[in-house]
Amino acid sequence: MASVKLSGITKRYEDVTAVDDMNLEIEDGEFVTFVGPSGCGKSTTMETIAGLTLPTEGSIEIGGRDVTDLPPKDRGISMVFQNIALFPHMDVYDNISFGLRLRKYDQEEVERRVEEAADIVQLEGMMERMPSEMSGGQRQRVAIARAIVRNPGAFLMDEPLANLDAELRVHMRTQLQRLHRELDTTIIYVTHDQAQAMTMSDRIAVINSGVLQQVAPPLECYNEPANRFVAGFIGSPSMNFIEGEAVADGFESTYTDIEFDPDAQGVSPGQNVTVGVRPEDVHLERNAGEAGAPTKAFDAVVDVIEPVGKEVNAYLLFDRDVEASAEGRGEGQLLINLEPDTTISESDDVQVVLDRDNVHLFDRASGDAISHSL
Ligand code: ADP
Repeated sequence: MASVKLSGITKRYEDVTAVDDMNLEIEDGEFVTFVGPSGCGKSTTMETIAGLTLPTEGSIEIGGRDVTDLPPKDRGISMVFQNIALFPHMDVYDNISFGLRLRKYDQEEVERRVEEAADIVQLEGMMERMPSEMSGGQRQRVAIARAIVRNPGAFLMDEPLANLDAELRVHMRTQLQRLHRELDTTIIYVTHDQAQAMTMSDRIAVINSGVLQQVAPPLECYNEPANRFVAGFIGSPSMNFIEGEAVADGFESTYTDIEFDPDAQGVSPGQNVTVGVRPEDVHLERNAGEAGAPTKAFDAVVDVIEPVGKEVNAYLLFDRDVEASAEGRGEGQLLINLEPDTTISESDDVQVVLDRDNVHLFDRASGDAISHSL
């Protein structure tokens, strides 16, 4: 087990700053996930920890030791990547034990470690299979077992489930959590998939454009996003945003107004603010009891209804004149989650309320969160 500490890590490629002054301390045995959109710098950060690339500035400690200039093999880490590079001409046993044999471990020790790792990832009885005779998930488990046998201080995993189909991905998610529990080892995991980040991690590190946005337990990022980026990235379907302005008695926008005391919320009249509300925190006025503290009701029109089984997603327009944007939810559009048996039809006129306890306010200029409850 090892802690990992990044101090002022910056990585520049000519005119691209892939990672910008990243500071992060990962505790011994912690499962931390780097999450963010494609190109935000997740892999580059991971590569600096692994030693596959040198940071332009900053230092890295693993287990309290400065490893900034050490080659990957001397850092006490194991890596698992998206592209599972198994040796095609070797069976499972030889693939898993390859690194140990290379390092001249004695036969008994190799067998013991391979058996233990195979047991953890449930590959017993498959030692003589060739990679070509295995499914994607089984091959990925071989790759993980190969990382386990090295008994590393930390595992670095970069999108290890990206090439698996959806069902297998969910299954492997559970497996990885078990693995973490059993090994009690530090895991640093990279994914662009916020669902993976939310379900597996002790903490998630949300990155955008090379900059760390928030490092916190998943539910804290969900319930108290540090800024508008985190609010929009974490959670699926994503949060609704309404652009407007703080006024003397609350918030005003083209289609809605919400009463609150600006002083108590820390906003000044005239300030450009964004209201954020998750689809599950919008309710039909006739079910206003579902909201802990409903706002006054707004008129809306039902645009599109999506039954997804356990719930219904309804896309609303604040006004019949609003043009539904083809590129995601635009101004004047609102997504609401409803119970599956809700009777509602496209083009219905409805009234909705927001749950004040879960209405977020963001400063429009900086994007920073101001408040998470009105
Ligand atoms: P992510 O893993 O979040 O998708 P990356 O860390 O791969 O993002 O990339 C971050 C940024 O750095 C991107 O803009 C990418 O184009 C750039 N980048 C990554 N590697 C290199 C490289 N070897 N040379 C130049 N630019 C790179």
